[in-house]
Amino acid sequence: MQFDLFSKWSLKAGYPFLMAGPCSAESAEQVLTLSKELKNKAIHLFRAGVWKPRTRPNSFEGSGEEGLKWLKAAKEETGLPNTVEVATAAHVELALKYGIDALWIGARTMVSPFAVQSIADSLKGVNIPVIVKNPVNPDIELWIGGIERIYNNGIIQIAAIHRGFSSYDKSKYRNKPLWEIPLELKRRFPDLPLLCDPSHIGGKRELIASLSQKALDLNFDGLMIEVHPDPDEALSDPQQQITPAEFSELINNLVIRKRNAEDSIAYSSLEELRITIDKIDEHLLETLNERMTYSEKIGVFKKENDIAIFQPERWNEIVTRVKFLAAEKNLSEDIVLKIFDYIQKESIRKQTNIMYGNNSVDIKSESENRNQ
Ligand code: PEP
Ligand code: MN
Repeated sequence: MQFDLFSKWSLKAGYPFLMAGPCSAESAEQVLTLSKELKNKAIHLFRAGVWKPRTRPNSFEGSGEEGLKWLKAAKEETGLPNTVEVATAAHVELALKYGIDALWIGARTMVSPFAVQSIADSLKGVNIPVIVKNPVNPDIELWIGGIERIYNNGIIQIAAIHRGFSSYDKSKYRNKPLWEIPLELKRRFPDLPLLCDPSHIGGKRELIASLSQKALDLNFDGLMIEVHPDPDEALSDPQQQITPAEFSELINNLVIRKRNAEDSIAYSSLEELRITIDKIDEHLLETLNERMTYSEKIGVFKKENDIAIFQPERWNEIVTRVKFLAAEKNLSEDIVLKIFDYIQKESIRKQTNIMYGNNSVDIKSESENRNQ
């Protein structure tokens, strides 16, 4: 897949793509004043929800078509492009009618392939950027699936937004970041622009600055931040919205790092370190191969002597030992145990092959089992 969102906007090299605006459009005046203030802060897209997916009914559910009129009027005055969340084909139709410049698909909609497909179908032949949040559940395949549904209908101006994942247990975040998921998305689709929504991850305004910095440190391409003229009085998400002045301060304090090491004069020393890392990786694999040879020898022994492949006492002994060694060598116990868990699975697979020949059932990786 080849994406192209940014050629539409002239981005300053290394400067993040910025989307900001209220959680919800609340009045013509709120939308206009905020658009004017945010226009001065050099954002790229003004965001506002007009259809609000709320957890419980009987709360404010958005201004609907009225809100689209406010957005249209504000854009006529400021020229700042805007975006709204769409959850149905009917929303798409209305958003296009009012000249909205980009659409975003929310986290709750992204969990339903039916809903995403119907939005995607309504976009056939339409040339508009679509910004795709992660689904609320931590399922990267579902996120990618949603992106593919849009892409397959001819949209190449796509970006992904990481807004965290809901979980039953309480954490300091409203939605757990699980950074490894957006990073895996970036690894698989390096030219898919990846933005971060620290407002919905944090759920509290105090967390927004550090989450934004973390996203830029991880090479995200931009941020979507909820900004409201009077956050405490906001009709939705009051605790996580910040004022335009706080938004300015946040943006001014961000450390914007170089996107690539190639931009840096110290590039050659980095290259040297990388060469050493490559050599160490080779040693690691050689050692792993040697260890597997011994696993196989043990497999032959178990077969000849009719001994069960999995020996829980031995496995516990290994776990205790590597935990001790991990601490001694200053390595994270959690990571070391995960690595050994994979080594153990591979040893069992090899020994099973020895015991039964190559027709035995492979132990599939977890991700293969999860993919439906
Ligand atoms: C929003 O951005 O206002 C919103 C509803 O976000 P999400 O879909 O990420 O919950
Ligand atoms: Mn919100």
